[in-house]
Amino acid sequence: MTKEELNPFKITQHQFDKVAKRLELKKGTHEYLRLPQRELTVNFPVKMDDGSIEVFTGYRVQHNNARGPYKGGIRYHPDVTLDEVRALSMLMTWKCALVGIPFGGAKGGVVCNPKKMSKEELERLTRRFVSEISIIIGPDRDIPAPDVYTDAQVMAWILDTYSMNKGYCVPGIVTGKPISIGGSLGRNEATGRGCMFSIIEALKHFDYKIIKEDKDNYRIDGATVAVQGFGNVGSVAAKLLFEKGAKIIAVSDSKGGILKKGKGGLDIDKLIEHKLETRSVSDFSGTTELKSKEILKVKCDILVPAALENQITGENADRIKAKIVAEGANGPTTPEADKILSERDIFVIPDVLANAGGVIVSYFEWVQSLQQLVWTERDVNERLKEIMQRSFRETIDAKGEYNTDMRTAAYMLAVERVSDAVTIRGIFP
Ligand code: NAD
Repeated sequence: MTKEELNPFKITQHQFDKVAKRLELKKGTHEYLRLPQRELTVNFPVKMDDGSIEVFTGYRVQHNNARGPYKGGIRYHPDVTLDEVRALSMLMTWKCALVGIPFGGAKGGVVCNPKKMSKEELERLTRRFVSEISIIIGPDRDIPAPDVYTDAQVMAWILDTYSMNKGYCVPGIVTGKPISIGGSLGRNEATGRGCMFSIIEALKHFDYKIIKEDKDNYRIDGATVAVQGFGNVGSVAAKLLFEKGAKIIAVSDSKGGILKKGKGGLDIDKLIEHKLETRSVSDFSGTTELKSKEILKVKCDILVPAALENQITGENADRIKAKIVAEGANGPTTPEADKILSERDIFVIPDVLANAGGVIVSYFEWVQSLQQLVWTERDVNERLKEIMQRSFRETIDAKGEYNTDMRTAAYMLAVERVSDAVTIRGIFP
């Protein structure tokens, strides 16, 4: 047996190639869309607290802007690679097209270990990185946002650095910023909330454990859930599913996992407090510890991988015991695993759909920033729900039309939209 391909860019290109072939894209369009339009690598010095200077490497990759300005998060992680950032930038292009918002795709990353850096060091790193990439970003060019180990504070530093260099405040330069400087209500929870909406749509589709409360509001009492990753996406998805009546039976983060079978499952509000206090979900009272990746094998109705890529692979896909996998993370499932899950009739809500809530509300935030408007949280959440429901329906319809799986269906819709935009704009000059 050959070794499974785990290079995220090769995986994303492979998924795209498959779809491009089915859509019979013209050779030139196919070749154009399988590569990013622009890639910037920067090596830059940062003064550390002890007076030494450390050199960091960062990337900003812009995949495609046929449908609108580039959009995508910035990740701080020791394992960031250029190929990872390329893959994530391409995913952003498809995601924005799938949910019908007028953005292209980009992504950024800095190779660093934020857990081992002080707040001051992180601020200096952020400000220098933004200055380095400021030649290609801008409120109508490329708009960053949070991703793994970056948060609203990091976005505030990005806004401030960019604005200082311009000489005036530019709130449209980032999304996911704090409310006090123009962030949108509902943005912090948007990815987890969107993920919850996509799960409810899937349960509705299967007529499964779903109770209609009133117009468009549903409860999923008793549905069992396991969540890998307890950060922005995982913890919010867990909390919102819990509020809808689901029983969250297992949760994990980078330090370990916990399992609670009995009545009611985990008390998510208390678990969030515990994580804030101890910086980990481990040692939460009344739970059994799980070893790394064991969470993926927990028997449940819904599994939400919400950590990093390549978690469900050819090695462990046959041991997944969930009925639905909702990809809160980007790229958590390899193509080999996809095949196994599909053969086993496990329904996958692909990343480009399940975690699109973040970029949808980022779009709302950007619109508010450009127009100096403030929408209510209810408005934001309702609009998010509408787009998630429509996108889910369109993907399910495409799945039926093309007789394929959810990921291929989502890619077919997205790639066709981007390719149409490329075609109608024509090739310059
Ligand atoms: P985060 O930094 O807030 O949280 C990441 C979580 O994953 C942490 O709890 C961390 O402990 C955990 N983790 C890391 N390695 C792990 C491992 N090996 N096993 C289990 N848990 C592990 O990041 P986030 O913003 O929640 O992003 C998570 C995923 O969601 C990423 O794939 C990201 O690209 C994707 N995503 C995020 C957003 C967003 O708005 N934040 C939007 C779309 C997609």
